[in-house]
Amino acid sequence: MPGESTPLDRNLRTPLTRNIHGDAAVSLEAYRNNGGYLGLQRALDMVPENITALVQEAGLRGRGGAGFNTGLKWSFVPGNDQYSGPRYLICNADEMEPGAFKDRYLLERDPHLLIEGMLIAASAINASTAYIFIRGEYHLAAQRLSHALEEAHRAGLLGKRILGRDFSLQIHVHRSSGNYICGEETALLNALEGRRAIPRTKPPFPQVSGLWGKPTVVNNVETLCNLPCLLALGADWYRQLGREDDAGSKLFGVSGRVNNPGVWELPMGTPVREIIENHARGMQPGFRLRGFLPGGGSTDFLAPRHLDLPMDYDVIGKAGSRMGTGTLMILDDHTCPVGLVLNLQRFFARESCGWCTPCRDGLPWVVEILERIEAGRGEKQDLILLRQLARRMAPGTTFCALAPGAAEPLQSSLKLFLSDYLAHIVQRGCPYGHSARPQSE
Ligand code: NAD
Repeated sequence: MPGESTPLDRNLRTPLTRNIHGDAAVSLEAYRNNGGYLGLQRALDMVPENITALVQEAGLRGRGGAGFNTGLKWSFVPGNDQYSGPRYLICNADEMEPGAFKDRYLLERDPHLLIEGMLIAASAINASTAYIFIRGEYHLAAQRLSHALEEAHRAGLLGKRILGRDFSLQIHVHRSSGNYICGEETALLNALEGRRAIPRTKPPFPQVSGLWGKPTVVNNVETLCNLPCLLALGADWYRQLGREDDAGSKLFGVSGRVNNPGVWELPMGTPVREIIENHARGMQPGFRLRGFLPGGGSTDFLAPRHLDLPMDYDVIGKAGSRMGTGTLMILDDHTCPVGLVLNLQRFFARESCGWCTPCRDGLPWVVEILERIEAGRGEKQDLILLRQLARRMAPGTTFCALAPGAAEPLQSSLKLFLSDYLAHIVQRGCPYGHSARPQSE
């Protein structure tokens, strides 16, 4: 358990945003004055296996979108008894999921929270080199991170013999070249190695064979930012932050025609309705909610009847979608669902790395058909074709999750908004007055 003298309050409910008051980046001094680097001190008092066990027991699940248990992921890294070579830690800051802007919030405003989280993760897996792989467009975040890394170096929190212990870590910032696929963990490894950013087959998982074939852990920004307070205040404290089965707090975001789009730290398991009505302050006057994508552009649409579901990985999964990044995209009754799905499919088609056929050829085909329907030139057979294409992009048919993710809003919109697709076909045009300018022609 953490030491008695910790200045962190056990009643703390917002460990991710507790230092953030406005747009400025939190300085090292302010960070330390609010309990910063206590979690690292606690980690350095523990043997690495126990840090991993604590994180596993706390139930922290990956916040990049997949929700894999973080401690379990670390446990696959071979220990010192099995392996004596280098191990790497990578922070995946290549946030490019449509509708997601949560990691950017943390990166720009509290970079020391991430640095401390990385120090804890690196000490758990015995890594002495780490990389922050950051989205190319995140200029301000990269600048603030570099400044915070210099501050940490000067204070002896990075480099050799950190806090006088037998633990060293160098963190390098690597700016992505700007493709969505670079955020897929194995494509990211290829990109870091200077290769073409295409996904690798899994298994082997990176924890066993990752960067330059060495054991590597890739964790998302928000996941790593959970570690400082988790280590300082313990697994029981962490678990009770969640309202349902999932532990901890989470950054939830809302975009679309709501009164107050934004991002907030809330207990894991907060109901969708509460996020939309209390935090996003409901729909704008004259707009009605028709559906929502719970976790960014690559998740299945849910309907108004799902509004009372808690944002919990397993509950949203059982409802037929995924919690993904936890950043909700709202569809209102003035926006054409076909147009929205077309917009997403254009993004996924453009971002395909071209490595496997269902993605490289399937996605442009989906775009072509949706453009036809939106422009009033669609036929009923097109809907059959779209369903077939979505099935051909199912998990297991591709190297990575890009095409299966793209298939999710497509297949669910064909169920939930079938009447809209049919209206386009019957009325020979978009009932919402949209005119899709073909990009594929
Ligand atoms: P995944 O489920 O294959 O893997 C998730 C993590 O768990 C990986 O680190 C993987 O190494 C590990 N893992 C999974 N199974 C394992 C096993 N059997 N043994 C060891 N390790 C295992 O998912 P993924 O393809 O890495 O990611 C897909 C997710 O990424 C989607 O949920 C999507 O929502 C999300 N996503 C997020 C962004 C973003 O900007 N944050 C962008 C695109 C996609």
